[in-house]
Order: sequence, then C-alpha cells, then structure tokens
Amino acid sequence: MKTDYLDTLGRYWGFSSFRPLQEDIIRSVLAGKDTLGLMPTGGGKSLTFQVPALTVPGLCLVVTPLIALMKDQVENLRKLQIKAVAIHSGCTREEIDIALNNCLYGGYKFLYVSPERLGSELFRIRFQEMNVNLIVVDEAHCISQWGYDFRPSYMRIAELRQYHPQVPILALTATATPKVIEDVQDKLLFRERNVLKTSFRRENLIYAVKYSENKDRDVIEMVKKLKGNGIVYVRSRRKSVEIARYLVQEGISATYYHAGLEHQARNEAHQNWTIGKIRVIVATNAFGMGIDKADVRFVIHADLPDSPEAYFQEAGRAGRDGNKSFAILLSSPSDRAAVSHRILVNFPDNVTIKNTYSALGNYLQIPVGSGKGASYDFDINDFARVYRLSVYTAFSSLKILELEGYIELTEEINNPSRIKFLLNRDDLYRFQVSNSRFDSFIKLVLRSYTGVFTEFTTIDETMLAKRANVDQEIVRQYLSKLVSLGVISYLPQKRSPMVIFFEERLDEKSIYISKENYQTRKERYEERANAMLHYSLSRDKCRSQLLLEYFNEPGSPPCGECDICRIKNESALRQEDFNMLREDIQAVLALQPMTPEQLFERIPANRDKIIEVMQWMLDNDIIRYNTEKYLILHKSE
Ligand code: ADP
Ligand code: MG
Repeated sequence: MKTDYLDTLGRYWGFSSFRPLQEDIIRSVLAGKDTLGLMPTGGGKSLTFQVPALTVPGLCLVVTPLIALMKDQVENLRKLQIKAVAIHSGCTREEIDIALNNCLYGGYKFLYVSPERLGSELFRIRFQEMNVNLIVVDEAHCISQWGYDFRPSYMRIAELRQYHPQVPILALTATATPKVIEDVQDKLLFRERNVLKTSFRRENLIYAVKYSENKDRDVIEMVKKLKGNGIVYVRSRRKSVEIARYLVQEGISATYYHAGLEHQARNEAHQNWTIGKIRVIVATNAFGMGIDKADVRFVIHADLPDSPEAYFQEAGRAGRDGNKSFAILLSSPSDRAAVSHRILVNFPDNVTIKNTYSALGNYLQIPVGSGKGASYDFDINDFARVYRLSVYTAFSSLKILELEGYIELTEEINNPSRIKFLLNRDDLYRFQVSNSRFDSFIKLVLRSYTGVFTEFTTIDETMLAKRANVDQEIVRQYLSKLVSLGVISYLPQKRSPMVIFFEERLDEKSIYISKENYQTRKERYEERANAMLHYSLSRDKCRSQLLLEYFNEPGSPPCGECDICRIKNESALRQEDFNMLREDIQAVLALQPMTPEQLFERIPANRDKIIEVMQWMLDNDIIRYNTEKYLILHKSE
C-alpha cells in the first residue's frame, strides 16, 4: 500500500516525497477512517485527497465553496491526464447532466461540487449510483457556525453520507480553533474523532506590529526598506488605488487589485505580479483565491483585519518558499472605533434586512411563492443603485439572509465558452458531406479540441478566429448556425455573480431572522474582531505565540524575531552586556586605580557603554574617585 501511494505521487506530480502530515492523512483515509486534516494555507492539502483517490478504484467527491478554485483544480488535474469535472451554479442543467453521466459511466476520478448543488434531486439520484471512494470537504470550517465563514449549504454534506455509509469523509481546513475542530467532526457525523494537525508555526515568517499615525507614509517607507515582492492589504478599493499610485510615484513598481475591477484588469494585475513584472500589489481581501506564489517576501496590512483567522491566512501568503519573510500589521489609534463601526455595518437591523429581501425579489422579478431553486445573474452595485441602498448595507443584509438559508450569493463566476457536439462521429460526417460550407469550420474545431463528443469543452473563439483567419464574429455566426441545425450545443462565455433562491420567494412578513442566531453571530464576530485588536495592541507577548495560542497551540517557544521578541532580546542583551562590563571594570580596578581614560583603553568596548556602566557604578557607590581623580573600588564591594 505504501509504495502504491508514493508511486502515485511520483507518477502524476513528479514529487519525490510528502510534506509533513500529508502521508499521515493519506494513510488514515486509505484505512477508511473519517479524518479531519488541519494544515495552514499552502501546506499541501489537495494532495491529501488527490493521491489516495488515485490509488484506489472509484470516484472522489470534492465539496468546495470557491468556484474559481474548483475550476483551477479541475484544470490542473486534466493537465495531468486525470479525468475530473466540476458542477456549480454557473453550469447549465444540461452540463450538469452530462458531467454526472460521465462520473457514472466515463471513468472519472474527481467530481467537484459546490455545496449549493448538493441538494438537487438530479445530483442525489446519480450520486447514489456512483462508485465513490472518498468524500472530501475542503474549507471544512464553512460547516461551523463557530467559524468565520459559515455557509448554510455546507450543512447538506452530512446528508450525503446515507448514500454511501461505508465511504470515509476527509475534511480539510486551515482554521484550527478548538470549537471549529469539534463542530466540524460533529456536523459531518464522524464515526470516530480523528484529527491530524500540523503545527501552524511558520518558522520563516517574521511578524511585527507597527504603530502608525500616517499609514500611507509608513507603507511607502516600509516597502522601500523591504526587499522582494509583496502584498499590501487595505480595506477599501479607493485606498488600494491611492497607495499603489503613491508607490509608483516613489519609483516602486506597484499595482492595485479589488473586486470592482473588470475581470481582465484583475487577471492582468494578478498575472503581472505573479511573474514578477510588478513588485507590489495593493489589494483588498478580494485578492486571495488562487495565489500560488512561493517567493512573496512581505505582506503588509494597512488596516486591521476582521479576525485572526483572516490575518493568519493573508499574512501566511508570505514566505511559502521557506525563506525569511515579513508579516507586518499597522495599528493606529482609530482601530478600536473602526471595529465598532464594522460591527454596525455588518449587522443591519431586522427591518433593513427584510426590506432588502423584498427589494431583491422585485429586482429579480420573482413573484411571491415562486423562484425556489432558481439562480439569477446578480449585480449588487446595480441593485443597490436602483433601490438607493448603500452597497455595504445591501451586502450585509444579503449575507444574513444567506446565513438563514434563504438565498446564496456566489462569487463572480467566470465561465468561458463551451461546446459539445450533439451528433456522434458518423452522423457528423454525414452532416459535413451534405453541408460542405461547414466542413472546414467543423474540421478546425475537431483539430483544435478533443473530447467535444463526450463533454462540454471549453473553446476560445479568438483562437479559432485566428486559426481560420477570419473575424471573431464569423466564428460566432458559424457556432450559432450549428446550434440551430442541432449539430452542437454552445454556451457563450459569461461572467457574473449569482443569487440562488433556496426557498420560493416569501412574503416579507414571513421572513424570519432568528434573533438567537443573529445575536450569537454578532457576538462571535465581536470576539474575533477583539482578538485581532488584542493582537495589534499587545506589547508583552511574542506575536507568533499569540497567534498560535489562538489556534489552540499553546507552549510554542517565542519566535525570537517578531517586534516583541526583538525588544525583549535587546534589553536582555543590554543586561548581559552591562553585567559583563561591570565585571570587567571591577576586575581591572581591583588590580589598580585608573583614570576613566585609562579604563577606556584597557576595556575593549564601546566608550559610551563603558561610561554608562561606570556612571551606574558610581551612582551605586560600587566605585568612587579617590583624591587624585583615579577610580577605585569602594571598600564594601
Ligand atoms: P493548501 O490547499 O493546503 O492551501 P495546496 O494543496 O494548494 O495547499 O498546495 C500548495 C502547493 O504546494 C501546491 O503548489 C502544491 O503543488 C505544492 N505541494 C503540495 N504537496 C507537495 C509535495 N509533497 N511536494 C512538493 N510540492 C507540494
Ligand atoms: Mg486548498
């Protein structure tokens, strides 16, 4: 067995060894045990399910909340010639149907699903039939109301167990607070408690908090001093643009990134920074997904993050290559007030929430009593404008409705164009013969893409146009004609966030926001925000120790390098220096009286330091001047 999975690692990925804990998790899973794997971001969680799933027959179901990441992983697996597919709210019913069939009959190894799809009949019936070897819950903290990113649709995962009671669950997360750890195992109906955890200590990451009354200036100063690539996190989109501009004015190569940017601009910023064309990216927390850059040398937070969980994740993007890196948080006198304000904005009152719900129904033109299970493209900025709401309040209200299970807001889903042939090869051939004007276009498509007969395949109209040496518009026309002739199914590219209704639209009065839930959520949010504040204000404990204690890892040694450890080391060093000098002076004067000048010559140390110690010894009557102005030891010493 051991050689089997090592073999898998080398054969597909070309890696020669596992990282800490990967092997333990893999063994636990292969032994059929429910397992909770805790590793910090970048620790290598994906391989802990991909390797065992490839080692044994059958299909691995992966539930994961972020569609962009899901697509990323599927693409990467496909590059390794591994059959994988994803279904999420951006997929059409037809696509989901085909994907599920492929999982049933097509020898697929990985099925990625976003949690809101788990409830559908379509999915459940087929899932039951599948030969499943493992159920993976990535970002498993989303199942816990104690976590900082609770998603109600995660509660559905446990229901899946009934269809495959023998199949183990592997839950993975980078959030390791004790309550979440317990809760995840409960909610996923673990047969036995089984937690495997690596230390969250990051040896090469140096934490520091810097008090700042002028953040723009201090960010610039720091970036100038620091070496290499880095991220500056800010809370507002406007700030990201501003600070990037200041940096550029100072001759530093920098750009900005936030969720309000066009997809293209975002991609470009991310890309340029990743390849090192740009040194510093100033971003809101929208910049996070899909960062796989190993040589990030610093992460500066200009504003206080919401929670230690978020901070640890964001700061942890520095130094994944193991080289020395910095995680710096700027703290300011206004942080406390900012935290109070955030609580207000994040928790709008009941009336506001209900009004937002009604507005949403009207905006999407859903009659009361219908809409259950439907998903809609959704532009929150437009929504807020039409109903004269602040975008923040609208967002917070919708998030609360989401937590109550009425709706779900998805991230922006970037779906490229896809096609699938509806005819089999023979029928297509007959079609080509009798419709010769399509012949060369069809041949081009078949030459450019494989798999078009069995599944929806991503195509790129621009590339096809280039190859055919025609305009993109012509390519689109060909595609639509083929659609109308029943030859292909074509899903043009689309990008948009979505709203999904889990229940039919209710009358505003029937919307129930559980006071208890609301209150506890608010309290937990406050707790986390206060823990973050505590981290920024603390002056007496190693930063790394503070964070590790928060993640239930007490008893780690001080890091020795954070701002707090440095101050302590410095004074400890000073104390040691001081004592040594004191002994030296005593030893020398015990032999013979000396003038201060003679002392400086005899003792190989910095003159100022000697003066300081000498002064202290004089003050404490350990030494004295004799009548000839020579220093002598006092008798009592
Ligand atoms: P996580 O999900 O824990 O944040 P990932 O699974 O995305 O981390 O892995 C992070 C990176 O580490 C990936 O680029 C992956 O290829 C790499 N990696 C994981 N395991 C190994 C290994 N055993 N040897 C070398 N690289 C690895
Ligand atoms: Mg991961």
